[in-house]
Amino acid sequence: MLVVQKYGGTSVGSLPRIRAVAERCLARQRQGCRLIVVVSAMAGETDRLITLANDLLCVGAKSTSRMNGRWVEPMKVGDRCHERELSQLVSTGEKMSAALLSMAIQDLGGAAMSFVGHQLGLQTDRRFTDAHIMAIEEGRFTAALEANKIVVCAGFQGVDPEGNITTLGRGGTDTSAVAVAAALHADACEILTDVDGVYTSDPRVVPNARKLDRISYEAMLELAGVGAKVLHIRSVAFAMKYRVPLHVRSSLNRNEGTWIVPEEKNMESVLVTGVALDRNEAKVTLADCPDQPGTIAAIFAKLAEADVLVDMIIQNASRQGTTDVTFTVPKTLLDRSVELLANLPFVSGGALQIHADPNICKISIVGVGMRTHAGVASRAFSVLAEENVNVEMVSTSEIKVSVVVQERYGELATRALHDAFGLAES
Ligand code: ADP
Ligand code: ASP
Ligand code: MG
Repeated sequence: MLVVQKYGGTSVGSLPRIRAVAERCLARQRQGCRLIVVVSAMAGETDRLITLANDLLCVGAKSTSRMNGRWVEPMKVGDRCHERELSQLVSTGEKMSAALLSMAIQDLGGAAMSFVGHQLGLQTDRRFTDAHIMAIEEGRFTAALEANKIVVCAGFQGVDPEGNITTLGRGGTDTSAVAVAAALHADACEILTDVDGVYTSDPRVVPNARKLDRISYEAMLELAGVGAKVLHIRSVAFAMKYRVPLHVRSSLNRNEGTWIVPEEKNMESVLVTGVALDRNEAKVTLADCPDQPGTIAAIFAKLAEADVLVDMIIQNASRQGTTDVTFTVPKTLLDRSVELLANLPFVSGGALQIHADPNICKISIVGVGMRTHAGVASRAFSVLAEENVNVEMVSTSEIKVSVVVQERYGELATRALHDAFGLAES
C-alpha cells in the first residue's frame, strides 16, 4: 500500500511539532505502507520571506504593512523581473521543513530522505509564482522508496522547462501532494492540517460549523474555489481528474476526518453543503464607460495580459450611451489593476472614473442539491435583509450562489446564512 501524507504549516510549525510528525510518519509506516510525505514551510515562514522581499524592495512603510503576509506585488506594472527570485526565495521555506523532518525521522531510528521540487522532477509551466504542474518524472525517488525510506518532499515548488524554480501559489503544497499521489497511483492521499476535516463553514468564523464525513469532489471544488482555504483548489481538481481518494484530517489527533469522494446519490438530497467567506477580493467599478462593442473586451484584455484573475462581473443597463462595469479582482492585485485600467484610451481620455473598494468580501453558499432546487438565492437575500446587510453584487452557478457585501459584515452574514440553511451542529 502506498500512502501520501501532507502536513501543513501549523503541523510542522515548531521543532516539537516536527518531531511529533516524524513519530506519526513512522507509526504510519509500521502499519505496513510505503510512505511519501509532502510538507509545507513552518507556519509563518512563507509570510516572513515575502515580507523580507517587500521590505528590501522598499514598497513604502504603508504598503509593506498592508501587504504583510499576503502574496507580494512589489513590482511596477508590467515589470516581472522579481518573480523568478521570489519563487527562488519562498521555496526555501519548504526546503527547510523537508530537511528537518527527514532528520527527525532518522533521529528516531527511521530511514528517510528529503527531496526538493527539481529533485523530484516536478515539472511546471513558466508562471513563476503561480505555476501549474505539467508532469512528474517517474523514478526519481523509486530507489529511496524501495529501500523502505520515507520520502520527504518539499511542497509548493517545481521546476520550469528552463530549470528555474517555480512555486504553485499560496496553499500550493496540497496540490504538490495530490499530484504526487496521482502520478504514483497512491492508495490514499491524507491532508493533515489544524482542523478535524472539512466543515460546513470555516470553524474559526462559525463556531457551530459541523464536520462533514464525506463531500463530493464537485462540492469541494466549488468550496475551495470560493475561498475555503482548507484545500488548494487545484489539489481538488487534480484529485477529481485522477480519482485520488483524499482524506482531510487533523495532524493533532487520530480522528477520522473528511473523505472527498465521487458524488453519491444521497448527496443530491442535501440542498446546501457549506458556506465560505473570502476576504481576498476587492471591487472595481468603471463608471460611464462607452456603451459600444469592444469596451468590455478592452477592459478584460488589459487585465488578462497581466494575469489578473477576474471573478464576478456585472455590466449595468445603458443610459445615454454609457454604462457602469463592476468586477472583483484579488485584493493584492487591486492597485496594479487600477493602474493598468487607467491606461485604457477611453479611461485616460474621458471623464471616466475608476472606483476601487478593497473593503468588501464574498460569501458563497455551495451545494450539489441546488441543481434540482430553486430558491436558495432568494432565501439568502431575505436572511441578509433581516440582518440589514446590503448585497452589492451577486453571481450564481449550478451549485453556488455568491454575494459581495462590505467586509465588516462578512462574519455576521456568514453565520446568519449558515444558521438559516440548517447547517449548524445540532
Ligand atoms: P495548512 O497549513 O494545514 O495547509 P490552512 O490554514 O491552509 O492549513 O487550512 C486550514 C484552515 O482552513 C483551517 O484552520 C480553517 O480556518 C480554514 N477553513 C476555511 N474553511 C474551512 C472549512 N470549510 N472547513 C475546515 N477548515 C476551513
Ligand atoms: N508555504 C506555502 C504557503 O504558505 C504553501 C503551503 O503552505 O501550502 O502558502
Ligand atoms: Mg493550506
